[in-house]
Amino acid sequence: MAEELEKNEETLIFDKKMECPICDKKFTTKQVKTGKARFLGTDDDLRPRYSKIDTIKYDVCMCPYCGYASVMRDYENVTPKQRKLLMEKIGSKYKAEMAETTVYTYDIAIQRYKMALLTAMTKPAKLSEVSYLCLKLSWLYRGKIEEIEQEELTESQKTAIAHCQKNVDQYVKQAYQGFTEALLKEYPPICGMDEMTMNFLMAVLAKKSQDYDVSKKFAFMVVSSKNASSKMKDKARMLIDAIKEEQGESE
Ligand SMILES: [Zn+2]
Repeated sequence: MAEELEKNEETLIFDKKMECPICDKKFTTKQVKTGKARFLGTDDDLRPRYSKIDTIKYDVCMCPYCGYASVMRDYENVTPKQRKLLMEKIGSKYKAEMAETTVYTYDIAIQRYKMALLTAMTKPAKLSEVSYLCLKLSWLYRGKIEEIEQEELTESQKTAIAHCQKNVDQYVKQAYQGFTEALLKEYPPICGMDEMTMNFLMAVLAKKSQDYDVSKKFAFMVVSSKNASSKMKDKARMLIDAIKEEQGESE
């Protein structure tokens, strides 16, 4: 079963040739073929779902020689000053690991995202970009949990799930705190999200962080907005109802 899944995933990706803007070395990175993966929809926190592949695993491009990593869209986006800093702080210490793989497993993807997070914090990138990487890391850990749960659980797998869940919670919290701060000084679109999408995401992240009043505040902004789609408004209403239920239970 797992082998079959992997084969499907393999047909949806390709090796893209890259040149590192930090160390100038050439390498290849795995990318999802455009238009090949079938889109199924998004989770409440905007995590996209595709059939037979978790495309999030392939969003980060990483140089295997100096460890420089970022989402593909920003890969070339480095100033000479940042380049020097990244070489000094990361590149000079990074030990190249070139294990050949056919697909990126969750563990590999998580490692790549952690390098992207380190890169973003070193540059330093905008706080919203750092927060978005944290959000995506929480999606990857969730994906890993779902993958483990496909099989009958052994004790060690139960421990692995608990470990992943801890990371999910930690990265959600980090994303929530980061976006909260970013919203004070950045204006939409933020990480490609318009104002309403951002408000909806904040409502979801606040709820996950049990910050119910803030969650309701953002959800009400979506519900009362002229710009939000009716689908998004419905989701925001459901979120408010869910909070009411949870608060009712705790009373
Ligand atoms: Zn490099």
